[in-house]
Amino acid sequence: MKTVYRRHNCTNAHHTFRAMAECIWPHADSIDGEGPYATVTCCPHSPSRSAVTVRLHDELATAQAKFDEIGRSGCSGRCTGNHDLIEFRQS
Ligand SMILES: [Zn+2]
Ligand SMILES: [Zn+2]
Repeated sequence: MKTVYRRHNCTNAHHTFRAMAECIWPHADSIDGEGPYATVTCCPHSPSRSAVTVRLHDELATAQAKFDEIGRSGCSGRCTGNHDLIEFRQS
């Protein structure tokens, strides 16, 4: 199990965790959901480019379950296991 806690520091005020996620991953392919826990996958979706997808969760248990699921079954056909589970801390 891999857990990463990222404290996000920037000068912008984010009113939602989603806004924070969009600030951290401006080039994400997709950002879904809302909440302080994020499952992030950075595996390639095609041979030429990797893609970042972010799913936000209300509860750590939900995020952990999702993280375990993509760890077992892979996030895509080209999964390389490049996944993070991140807890946001609003400062
Ligand atoms: Zn920010
Ligand atoms: Zn993957």
